[in-house]
Amino acid sequence: MKSKLTQYGRQGKKLPFPAFDMHCHVGQWALFDAFSIADQLAEMDTIGVKVAAISSLAAIAGEVRRGNNLVAEMCRRHPQRFIGYVHINPNYPDLLLPELERCFAKRGFKGIKVYQQGVPYDDPKFDAVWEFARARHAPVLAHTWAGNLTGFDRVAQRFPEVPFFAAHAGSDFNYQPYIDAAKQARNFYLDLTYSREHTNMIEHFVKEVGADQIVWGSDQPLFSMAQQAAKVLFARISDADKVKLLSTNAAPLFGLKL
Ligand SMILES: [Zn+2]
Repeated sequence: MKSKLTQYGRQGKKLPFPAFDMHCHVGQWALFDAFSIADQLAEMDTIGVKVAAISSLAAIAGEVRRGNNLVAEMCRRHPQRFIGYVHINPNYPDLLLPELERCFAKRGFKGIKVYQQGVPYDDPKFDAVWEFARARHAPVLAHTWAGNLTGFDRVAQRFPEVPFFAAHAGSDFNYQPYIDAAKQARNFYLDLTYSREHTNMIEHFVKEVGADQIVWGSDQPLFSMAQQAAKVLFARISDADKVKLLSTNAAPLFGLKL
């Protein structure tokens, strides 16, 4: 298959369209050197990522409020480049709605980020979150691993108005649960964020699910944005599908015009 976009990857050229990274982070992670906002923006500029959707790494480790505040600060300082996910922790059910309300009152927050943190996604503790997402037209990004969806597929069927992104689709070679979930719910999207690239994984997903339900994120700064973009650029799918994955599928779900 002839692909002009593969050449952009091979030559390290900036993409000829505004890309959208729907899965990025902000803050420090214990295993990595510090990664500044300037570093983050420079990597985006090199590749041609116009806007990145960010959530807090500190919030994953328990500092929800401080982490969400850092996301708010990034969005305030760079409103053209970042939009935010509010991170919430289901182990503190009384704090879920107040934190969502507090953050959505600020500019920049457009989505919700969830980890199981010991609670399956179809546990009733999460219901207020899904209701909030429906009321605010907010996409939900959820950590999943190795096909272990912990009810995220069932939640997507219960709330068909909400876009649900399953992070790390295909991790540990367990593709089928992601494919089955996407076939059962048009609002269930496969997020390709993953440190590895299996031969033919993206091609297989496009063949089984169709390109419209696959979205691209890099997990920056945990993974290299260039390496993550290359997975799509070098896949044996059409250039039209590559543009869908890298830009036009996810951006409109956040109300973005790139
Ligand atoms: Zn992530």
